[in-house]
Amino acid sequence: MSAPRVEIRLDKVEANARSLVERLARRGIRVVGVTKAALGAPEVGAAFERGGVAGLGDSRVQNLKRLRDGGSALARTLIRSPMISEAQLVVRDADSSLNTEPLVLDALAAAAGRLGTSHGVVLMVELGDLREGIDPRTVVSLACLVEQTVGLHLLGLGTNLACQSGIAPDDSKMDQLSALVDDVESTLQRRLSVVSGGNSANLSWALSAADVGRVDELRLGESILLGTEPLHRTPVEGLHTDACVLVAEVIEVQTKASQPWGTVAQAAFGTPPIRDDVGLRRQALIALGHQDVDPLGLVPPAGSVILGASSDHLVVDVSELDVVVGDELAFAPNYSALVRAMTSPFVTTTYVGSGAPPSL
Ligand SMILES: *Cc1c(COP(=O)(O)O)cnc(C)c1O
Repeated sequence: MSAPRVEIRLDKVEANARSLVERLARRGIRVVGVTKAALGAPEVGAAFERGGVAGLGDSRVQNLKRLRDGGSALARTLIRSPMISEAQLVVRDADSSLNTEPLVLDALAAAAGRLGTSHGVVLMVELGDLREGIDPRTVVSLACLVEQTVGLHLLGLGTNLACQSGIAPDDSKMDQLSALVDDVESTLQRRLSVVSGGNSANLSWALSAADVGRVDELRLGESILLGTEPLHRTPVEGLHTDACVLVAEVIEVQTKASQPWGTVAQAAFGTPPIRDDVGLRRQALIALGHQDVDPLGLVPPAGSVILGASSDHLVVDVSELDVVVGDELAFAPNYSALVRAMTSPFVTTTYVGSGAPPSL
């Protein structure tokens, strides 16, 4: 098999999805499975579906199209505010989208008119993380505008925290969202069907809050794929943390001094701190670098230590391991490393476990 590659273990992805779907269902919350880190791979969408997610979300309309073309019948939501230039594609390939801009809503309505359909809208509210979202004071008026626009139907409200500024979802933020839902409902005189509380960073809150208020949906990607929550990057109890691994090949194993020698200046990606002198060490070079992955986001195999990385080389101390040239080593990627690997043209993806396509 070619290296480097991301191996996605579909049974573990499915088990993670099911575990979260079941735990959140007890709190009245459904799961939208976010496939963006897997680029909308239909295999991953299908594993999410077997795990019981209520819908699929992705930030790229191309990925939503890929999911649909791959056979998914689940509702698909574009979770990034659409570009005006892609409005027609969004209406065609997504059932709904997360929105904040009246001009974009106009473009979506016009596209829906041309396609003879109606597009679902979730209005995103800014609650302090300073990425997407409208001022809470303008939510009721924008909701009324959507309600009156032919070609659009207002599904509800949403918010997103912990992505730009690391602002944590807590009772106070979620209470604000619930209160806005009440305001909109009393103005429109009807129930909203979606109150989308956030991403994987909301998990600890959702599973522990005394009262989740009106929140009835979370959009989860990282927690399902990696089994971790983004607030503290800790494993979520009961989830597999090895559903996605990065496998790469050893191209040199040599015994070398633990400290470099010569005059110290800049290295390719900044100068790493010089190690303590621990004598001679077995050092492996891996055919993996910044062009493939975020090397800082990798956990190496137990007993080894990552010493540094450049564009195409990862340097690992393997003194405690039995490693020879040609061996493959498996690394655990964090979210940043996974996204970089999945989007690198040099890294392939293979699917393992039930739901994987037959190998050639
Ligand atoms: C990426 C994203 C998510 C999913 O985030 P995870 O941390 O992967 O669960 C949810 N909502 C929005 C708006 C996003 O951009």
